[in-house]
This record gives sequence, C-alpha cells and structure tokens, in this order.
Amino acid sequence: MARPMLSHRGPEFTAILRRCEELLQPVMGTRNRIFFFASSGTGMMEAGLINILAPGERLLIATHGMFGERFVEIAKAFGAQVDTLDIPWGCAPDPAEVQRRVAAGDYRAVVVVHNESSTGVVADLAGIGAVLRDTPALLVVDSVSGLGGIEMRQDEWGVDILVSASQKCLICPPGLGVVSMSPKAWSVVQRPGGLPRFYWDFRKAQASVEKMETPFTTPVALVAGLHEALGMIHEEGLTQVLTRHRRVSYALQAGCTALGLPPFAQTPDLSATVVCLQVPEGLSGKEIVRGLYQRHGTVIAGSRNKLAGKVIRIGTMGRCTAGDILTDLHHLEETLQSLNWPIAPGTGVSAASEALHER
Ligand SMILES: *Cc1c(COP(=O)(O)O)cnc(C)c1O
Repeated sequence: MARPMLSHRGPEFTAILRRCEELLQPVMGTRNRIFFFASSGTGMMEAGLINILAPGERLLIATHGMFGERFVEIAKAFGAQVDTLDIPWGCAPDPAEVQRRVAAGDYRAVVVVHNESSTGVVADLAGIGAVLRDTPALLVVDSVSGLGGIEMRQDEWGVDILVSASQKCLICPPGLGVVSMSPKAWSVVQRPGGLPRFYWDFRKAQASVEKMETPFTTPVALVAGLHEALGMIHEEGLTQVLTRHRRVSYALQAGCTALGLPPFAQTPDLSATVVCLQVPEGLSGKEIVRGLYQRHGTVIAGSRNKLAGKVIRIGTMGRCTAGDILTDLHHLEETLQSLNWPIAPGTGVSAASEALHER
C-alpha cells in the first residue's frame, strides 16, 4: 500500500484489479463481475438499494439488529415503500416467514444483513435464497462483516446483490467497497425508469468493468492492500480461514461464558466473526471496554444502540488466532477482576483451551 502510486488507468494497476477480482470471486462464491468503489460499507448498502428501485416500489427488510434498521433508514430516505420483517434482536430471520410475507406482498427485493454485527447473529441465506429463487423479488445482502470470515456462496444461494467493504474480514483499512450482482439483478438494474443515480450507478460500473476499469478514480492503495490480503486468505486456504474463524469464536464464546458473560443471542446461528456478549447485572459494558483499553491497549467494542452498556463485542475477524483470543481472555479476566467481578484466575482461559481441543 505504501508503494509509489500507480496510474489508476495504467496497465500495472489494471493487472492488480483483475487479480483482486479473481481472488475475491471464490470468497464471494460467485462468477459475477465485481465492482470496486471508494466507499464505506454504508455507501454500498445505499448503492445496492438505489440501483434496483423504481419510485414507489416496495421492499421487505429484515430487522434483527442495527444494520437492518440502517437499511430501513436508507430505503426511506429514497422514498421506497418499506415493510419490515420484525425479528427480536438476537434471533435470525426465518426463511418460512420470508416466504409467507413475499407471497402476500409485491416486493422488488428482500433485504437481509448476513452477519448482524450488532447482535452476533448469522442469517440463513441459503434458506432465504431458496424461497426467493422463483419469484420476481431480488435478494439484497449486506455481508460487510461476514465476507471472508463466514461462508458466502452467492451464486449457489441465489444472492442477487452482495455488498461488502474492505475493513472487516477482508483485513484492510476502511474505504474500499465491493459489490457483485446476479444476472437477475442486472435485468432490474438496467431497466428504464429506476431511481436517479450517478456515482453509484451499476450501469456505469458494468460498462467499465468490461474494460477492467472503474468509472471514477479507484482508491489505488486500498486495492493494492486488498490484493495482498486476498493473497493471505488464499495462502492459508479459504476453507481453513473459515474453520479458524469458527474455532476461535467458539472458544472465545466458551471462555466468556465461563467468566459469566454468555453470548447475547440465544440461537445456534452465532457469528464466527463477532462475538456479542451479554454483560451481567452489576457490570457495565462501557467500563469493560474502557478497562481493556486502558489496562491492556486492547480495543473491543461496546454498543452504539439500544444495547449500549448491556453487551460487549469482540471481533475475531481476519487474522485472529487462538493465541489472540487466549490473550484477550487473560486480559478480560484481569479487567473484570479490577471491576470487582469475582472470578477464579484462569477461568476463561482454561474454558477456551478446552473448547479449542474439542474443535
Ligand atoms: C461495519 C458494517 C457496515 C458498514 O459500516 P461503514 O461504517 O459504513 O463501513 C455495514 N453493515 C454491517 C453489518 C457492518 O458490520
């Protein structure tokens, strides 16, 4: 990323962009072309919606956490008719319920967050894709915090628009957005009469991608970084990367549960990229986050919504190893003790070590 800048229209950069696409396609599980934008994840969420909507069209948005709610806000800002699939935070959307709602409504698309980072829950995209496959409704998916850490099979599952961004499991700094769309989505994107769009216009992106370019200046250094990160993922092996995320998050959940902080979500569909933990009565999430940072320089997250103070969230995204989470648990334990939370030394670490042996 720190190399001298290349021309974003020159042959050296075009080769990197092409390679990035080739390396990212198996991570997304797609043969679709991939568009790269200078954008955070939210920009890509917006792009995913405005490219498929015509004025007054209806969306069904699953709201099982903060990012589902963000999709609702974006859709409303553009005048879409929004129905929500209201799901208690900590649960996953039920494909049968999606099927029932779609049969009863006239939806342009169903919108689902793959990995709800606010609650640590994964949606069953294979199940939801299967019920939408033979309907006119598209499946729009945000996998910003999932892609590269949990399985994604865009083509097989029938995901029509898949958006993600560089800064989570793709192991890069923030600022690079990625999206790929199915042929079914493309037929909707290119029809006349859709919403106004310019920078985000997938029709422009499609025309450019055929020349292995982007319509506007690509963030060259970020693409170079993504190229390197994808190289790391494939060097370890995509299957091994996904297994490592499952193993490490499982052990972290076990360790935290032993410390009295069980997963917030009561579901088997727990995320392998972010562990969202319930803070027990008598402790404050904010103090734990602050304590870990001040005492150990470890950055974890609290919550910035209605769960503020009630949960803490620990990322296992990207290059996170068993050694990392054992260290985190040791430090978490020490921080909890400093907050007068009674635990025997080693409780979390030993529960996690046992869990690591199981898997
Ligand atoms: C991080 C994240 C985003 C993106 O947020 P930005 O700050 O705009 O990059 C979107 N969706 C989910 C599920 C996320 O975890």
